[in-house]
Amino acid sequence: MPRIRILGSGREVGRAAISIERDGRILLLDYGTNFDDEDRPVFPAHVKPRDIDALVLTHSHLDHIGAAPSLYISIFPKVYATPVTFDVSKLLLYDMIKLNGPHLPYDEASVEDMLKTGKSVKYDEEVEGDFYTFKLVYNGHIPGSAAVWVEVDGHRILYTSDMNTITTKLMNPAKFTGVKADTVIIESTYGSTNHPPREETEQLFYESIQEVVKKGGTVLVPSFSVSRGQEIMSILAERDFEYPVWIDGMIRQVTELYLAHGEYVRDLKLLSKAAAMFKMVRGWQDRRRAFKKPGVIIASAGMLKGGPSLYYLKKMAGNEKNAVFMVSYQAEGTPGRQILLNGTYSTEEIPVRARVQWFDFSSHTDQQGILRALSSITGLERVILVHGDPENQASLKQKIEEVLDVEVLTPGNLDVIELD
Ligand SMILES: [Zn+2]
Ligand SMILES: [Zn+2]
Repeated sequence: MPRIRILGSGREVGRAAISIERDGRILLLDYGTNFDDEDRPVFPAHVKPRDIDALVLTHSHLDHIGAAPSLYISIFPKVYATPVTFDVSKLLLYDMIKLNGPHLPYDEASVEDMLKTGKSVKYDEEVEGDFYTFKLVYNGHIPGSAAVWVEVDGHRILYTSDMNTITTKLMNPAKFTGVKADTVIIESTYGSTNHPPREETEQLFYESIQEVVKKGGTVLVPSFSVSRGQEIMSILAERDFEYPVWIDGMIRQVTELYLAHGEYVRDLKLLSKAAAMFKMVRGWQDRRRAFKKPGVIIASAGMLKGGPSLYYLKKMAGNEKNAVFMVSYQAEGTPGRQILLNGTYSTEEIPVRARVQWFDFSSHTDQQGILRALSSITGLERVILVHGDPENQASLKQKIEEVLDVEVLTPGNLDVIELD
């Protein structure tokens, strides 16, 4: 009898790891990390590499791939993903080794071994395993990301992974219409809230930038390297923003990979235009120049934990003409969160005099999106909520039970769901 075991992302955001099992064999969906208060990686529950028939990586965020190379020390299970997921993952895993090397049970060699074992798959291409069939389904989260549909012993399981249900510059909405699944394992990051309409956020963001630059200020946009940076670039390029825009950090390399894998980007023309229009920071000379004139700097890291965005913050925070515009979730304990909460940065509590504002550019769907996605699935009997805080899950569970006649589970890590 097949079973689903939650190895990570049970009643928590991130650290995704879902095991589909039968007779001791495993199809593993994602194997990601979270980070603790001291910024050390936290792994999902252990799994024996020799039991794994295959691993599927749904997308290149560390909370879905960060632990995967630890499975490639002596045995090399098959690993599947889209080509762009493999390429961006390599960049992120190497960066993670650079930053967290001593705390990781793997090194560059394991990453290379994993990628060498990798098999690229396209959306909707059926792959046969030793006890299952699976295919990747477009899920709207970031370029190359996918949900995984699995058929095992007559059961059909859809694992949505991180998903989005709106049109963004880079992505079309997830489309699960026509998908047949009795069991859906779905993310619940924003299970209890709804995002404002995206066009409103884009417009507010653009107008706020105009206000700052017209008064002679520079706007720092700390941004994730993967997808968010390119989304912000596209928004500015679409409006032919007339001031200088500088791009700094790993956003540059990820942009190049997205351009090379253009079929995974919704508006490739727009991203190409942005890449041609904006200036790439190529060294310290550029970096020291970027914040001296009115304009925008899009720099990683997104929560100001390090990287060029932290350098710019230190240079720009003291001037009230400038602005720091946050475009992503700021986790507890990060400099970004501290700025939003009390307007200071570092343990010395240095005041930020620049204008600070937060914009909702989430690449995760929300409560209404989750309900719509579930309603579009045929034959649904059971919903398993993962990748969400317990409070959000409780409110979402209630809502799903109200709207749909299905069983809703909120398993913790190591919990097992038997499919009979
Ligand atoms: Zn995630
Ligand atoms: Zn993600």
